[in-house]
Amino acid sequence: MSGPGQRPLEGRVALVTGASRGIGRSIARELARRGAHVGVNFQSNRDAAESCLAEIEAEGGAGELVPFDVADADASNEGIGGLASRRGRLDVLVNNAGIALDGLLMRYKEDDWQRIVGVNLGGVFHCCKAAARPMVKGRWGRIVNLTSVVSQLGNAGQGPYAATKAGVEGLTRSLARELASRSITVNAVAPGFIDTEMTAALPEAIRSAYVGAVPVGRLGTADEVAAAVAFLCGPDAGYVTGHVLAVNGGLSM
Ligand code: NAD
Repeated sequence: MSGPGQRPLEGRVALVTGASRGIGRSIARELARRGAHVGVNFQSNRDAAESCLAEIEAEGGAGELVPFDVADADASNEGIGGLASRRGRLDVLVNNAGIALDGLLMRYKEDDWQRIVGVNLGGVFHCCKAAARPMVKGRWGRIVNLTSVVSQLGNAGQGPYAATKAGVEGLTRSLARELASRSITVNAVAPGFIDTEMTAALPEAIRSAYVGAVPVGRLGTADEVAAAVAFLCGPDAGYVTGHVLAVNGGLSM
């Protein structure tokens, strides 16, 4: 078993999608602290991704920038395949990139539906597909997909978002069965309300109402989500697969 101060991911290569800010940035930093070489994926904000990598290096970790749009299957394949061939392996994939295009059913735009499905569901599929080959070759792997408490609870105005996250949970369980014999685990982490730029965009009254519904009585932090993800990426979690781990302060139980 790994213990405090140890680096259980030493020698491992990880890729975190959407790692330039928010939860993804915390995950990238935590995996690097645990010894992984971290591919910091971003779509457009190079400055933020560079500052994430600088933080990793300042803490004694290592990584590299891996830019691509997860909604683009070819770009995802090239980005992940390139990292695996440069480093000679790929052990960990964290599908964190996601968007929330909220709106009520009757006013929802077709373009927004295509986009949210393309990023939140298509993106996870493309990246899992690209990562599976080097993981199967290495006979070890960890895939963690970020979903959401709303896939279970539902939320008015978030139907498309909830549908994509519920879709990812179905994909997670199916890939867990498909890849288990190769020592590759596939799990999801479902955050509740976490203090990031995504939730900062909500009106104050809605934020307060959310907090009132959380038994722990506060929003979660990105670091609390990152700790759960890092556990599932580590050697101690080898017998956990097909699981959706709630990190939501008791909002659903
Ligand atoms: P965020 O908006 O701060 O960060 C998401 C990141 O994904 C951004 O860096 C963004 O640039 C990137 N991204 C978006 N589209 C991309 C694409 N096509 N290709 C590559 N990167 C792309 O969000 P966050 O709050 O840090 O959320 C991270 C994940 O956790 C998301 O999947 C989100 O749905 C999920 N989540 C967040 C909360 C919350 O309360 N913040 C709750 C439940 C689930």
